[in-house]
Amino acid sequence: MVPLSRAHLIPVASQRGKPTARKMPKYRQPRSLRRSRARHTRVRWGTLTGAGTSTDSGIPDFRGPNGLWTKNPSASAMFDIETYVNDPEVRLRAWEGRRQHPAWTAEPNAGHIALTELQRAGRLGAIITQNIDGLHQRSGSRDVVEVHGSIWEIECLSCGDRTPTQVTLQRDEPDPRCLLCGGILKTATISFGQSLVPEVLNAAIDAARTADLLVAIGTTLAVLPAAGLAEMSRHLAIINAAPTQYDEQADVVVREPIGEVLPAVAAALAG
Ligand SMILES: [Zn+2]
Repeated sequence: MVPLSRAHLIPVASQRGKPTARKMPKYRQPRSLRRSRARHTRVRWGTLTGAGTSTDSGIPDFRGPNGLWTKNPSASAMFDIETYVNDPEVRLRAWEGRRQHPAWTAEPNAGHIALTELQRAGRLGAIITQNIDGLHQRSGSRDVVEVHGSIWEIECLSCGDRTPTQVTLQRDEPDPRCLLCGGILKTATISFGQSLVPEVLNAAIDAARTADLLVAIGTTLAVLPAAGLAEMSRHLAIINAAPTQYDEQADVVVREPIGEVLPAVAAALAG
């Protein structure tokens, strides 16, 4: 693993062509980070969650035994920005997938709820997540840093205009275009070849570095920026069903189901 700097974590996709013009959303540093310097009285977690955190809510992961890409390797093409922009067939399939996405009806599971309880108890600061499903927020968590964006918003790849995804889906068009400029629309998520949003990435880096303990949950830590964030942590705990490349560096590795471990930890720390 190559040591990471901030520069390394910001991909160069914006130099690869036109589709990556992005309007930067206004971003405020999570409250927990702004206050964190005043609170050194007890161990405070940060957490980094991945797809394994949402599987109990019925949202399949990507690389697991029942993962989207394990079952259908060609599906990953839909997540490549150049393919998406250049292939109308891929966009049609992507919009079909959005209409049927399990996120619209999924409910937060015991793992999400336990993290919300840990935040409310003051034990957990920011939640950095690779997930795009919004389930941490639905569970009542705050200070959620969505490094891969959100499926709940649609973004125009040309002018950067954003609208709620449900509003665009209600237009019931097979490949809807931007109502302002006619540009190609996509969920406001980070596809392969797209830049991460620098402000969001910086918030994730700060959260990973300032936490006394970074707990990686349901992530294989196989891709950036998750892998780099794990490397930056002061102390690292990993809760994941499968081994990760950081297991040897971690202070703690837990293989038990997330939906059992996190509620037990939350209950123990609340007592
Ligand atoms: Zn537009």
